Amino acid sequence: MHNHPQICLYCCEMDSVRKHGLAASGSQRYYCMSCKKTYQVKYIYQVKYIYQANEANIQRQITVLSDEGKSNIEISRLLGVSLRVVDRLINQMALMDSLNSEA
Ligand SMILES: [Zn+2]
Repeated sequence: MHNHPQICLYCCEMDSVRKHGLAASGSQRYYCMSCKKTYQVKYIYQVKYIYQANEANIQRQITVLSDEGKSNIEISRLLGVSLRVVDRLINQMALMDSLNSEA
């Protein structure tokens, strides 16, 4: 999955951000047509990826169980995670799906 920011980090303008080549470090650079600034987001997204990696196993299992028709409460009991986490991950995955289908 390829994430890219649609909101400028500086002026918060939406839909003004374009990819702007790669930095020497290999990170994707972005350019905002509104405020004419360029920036990299590697660091921000690295944090996000590390966080997601920790939850990737749980997410995969939730997907399987949910496909089997298990309720969120059943899933939380089976995986030994709190219902709040199950709810959040399912919402998160639904959001990812809708973002992917819009792109
Ligand atoms: Zn901007």
